Amino acid sequence: MIKRNSYLNKVVLSLTKLYLRSRKARFVNLSRIKLPHNREIEFIVYTSDNDFLLGQATVTGAIIVHEKCLGTQELLSYVVAHEDAHKRSWYSYLAIPLIIVFWFYGLFAVGTSLLYLGAMIATGDYSILTLFFSMLVIGSVTIAVGCSYSWFIEYKADSKAIRTLGIDVVLHAREEMERFTKVPLTWRIIARMTHPPFSCTKRIYQFFNKSPS
Ligand SMILES: [Zn+2]
Repeated sequence: MIKRNSYLNKVVLSLTKLYLRSRKARFVNLSRIKLPHNREIEFIVYTSDNDFLLGQATVTGAIIVHEKCLGTQELLSYVVAHEDAHKRSWYSYLAIPLIIVFWFYGLFAVGTSLLYLGAMIATGDYSILTLFFSMLVIGSVTIAVGCSYSWFIEYKADSKAIRTLGIDVVLHAREEMERFTKVPLTWRIIARMTHPPFSCTKRIYQFFNKSPS
């Protein structure tokens, strides 16, 4: 049931429930959290047995959080602050279509280069060696551009969460997240391609936010 003073309207809630169903996830309830500076943020709690995401800012403008994040206040605050940062930055909404396009063309170019390689080995004719290297480089660079864009928006979301909650809270939350890292290798590879290591985020954040000594 929607609370009378809920920030989420019925359309957004219905679309989000539909989206959750498409991911074989289930709506649990609507909840709120008060982050530092008295900002109250509403989010949707969901549950799923085969979902490794902890939270997401959906295209409909809702924040969804897996119920396993409710275990500790620090983890919940971090996930909500991170997703709220995504929700408030327009360039985050371009991430999925841009990554799909870059990765699709990148993989296509790498695949073509491998075909050239196969043809060279099969025929012994190395006249297309330059073409092979060109396609390999173009494909690798295109995939890397897609990853860089994702790393950029994830860095921005994490740096906003650090600014809101403080580095200690975020560090504790990240330690809590380690409990959920028993995920398949393919998922971990995709997570690394789309998210920078937190040690890297922390170093860059501290470089750009040096406190005056
Ligand atoms: Zn994110």
